Amino acid sequence: MKKAYNFTAGPCVLPQPAIDAAIEALKDFAGTGVPVVSISHRSKEWQAVMDEARSLWKEILNIPDNYEVLFLGGGASMQFLYVAMNFLEHKAAYLETGVWAKKALKEAKGLGEAYAVASSADKTFCYIPKDYTIPTDVDYFHITSNNTIYGTEIRHDIDSPVPLIADMSSDILSRPVDVSKYALIYGGAQKNVGPAGLAFAIVNKDALGKVTRYIPTMLDYRTHIDGGSMFNTPPVFPIFVMNETLKWLKGLGGLKVMNKMNVAKADKLYAEIDRNSLFRGTAAKEDRSIMNVCFVMAEGREALQDEFLAFAQGRGMVGIKGHRSVGGFRASIYNACPMEAVDALIACMQEFEAEHK
Ligand SMILES: *Cc1c(COP(=O)(O)O)cnc(C)c1O
Repeated sequence: MKKAYNFTAGPCVLPQPAIDAAIEALKDFAGTGVPVVSISHRSKEWQAVMDEARSLWKEILNIPDNYEVLFLGGGASMQFLYVAMNFLEHKAAYLETGVWAKKALKEAKGLGEAYAVASSADKTFCYIPKDYTIPTDVDYFHITSNNTIYGTEIRHDIDSPVPLIADMSSDILSRPVDVSKYALIYGGAQKNVGPAGLAFAIVNKDALGKVTRYIPTMLDYRTHIDGGSMFNTPPVFPIFVMNETLKWLKGLGGLKVMNKMNVAKADKLYAEIDRNSLFRGTAAKEDRSIMNVCFVMAEGREALQDEFLAFAQGRGMVGIKGHRSVGGFRASIYNACPMEAVDALIACMQEFEAEHK
């Protein structure tokens, strides 16, 4: 098989033990003789996977007892609508830090009054706005903790006077989080937790039931709390792979260890971007993401962009083309991306520099 260093933004690299377990489970799930994609979701063998996945989330993220972890279909984009359905009564405030944040806000606007308290659209979302205060007359304040496309991240748990809601699609489980500071944390699984087809929602049960609107059954978090995320047929295969990914993460030592590894990878790559005369980073230094590292050719060297892309691809780099709105390159170095891949990319950048000095 071809050696690939996978930096794709999502669906993304997953730990090899999780992939291996998935392959085995496709042949024979838990000794049932049936592939995991064909087992009844009401079987006791499947129930054990659901229970284990829930308890691993609670253990790894240290989730308080009054919270529930839900596994849902529809991706993070459907969660944009869940958020507004379940929490918006009068007014909602959003921090506009990118395209995903704008899409989240759009769904809220469809259901009530919602607005951006601050935005970094003026500079292609290359920074996190800091000059704002969270309003106190809103039902919730919504943030996107990691902006996948632009490589900016809010790497701390902010204090909010109103219920705080976070889209953590692309940095969940990359660092310890104080879950008690949030009314809801949600995201698509395919950036750091598992395959596409699955969203997670960590919801404070006490924060629900405060809106008067009719909430369609499938869009009501309480439906899925009561149903143990099996009100309808859950996405069994993504959940299986997620569970294996959680086991891997726990086995590594959990989020403190994971965070250390992630910071080490990001620091090394950013240091090379800053050192290398051919490249420059696009995100404001103080807001740099440890998950998505965005960079472009240095001023005056833009003509080399396509050549570097081909050069890197020829050396096994996969998925480093930047999002079209930023251009250049993006290396997504999620949890399962090994230091070896970062080293390979750095070697590529150094070789390319030596050829073009
Ligand atoms: C990818 C992404 C989404 C959209 O996820 P889907 O599951 O494809 O709907 C939303 N928010 C952020 C921050 C993302 O990175």
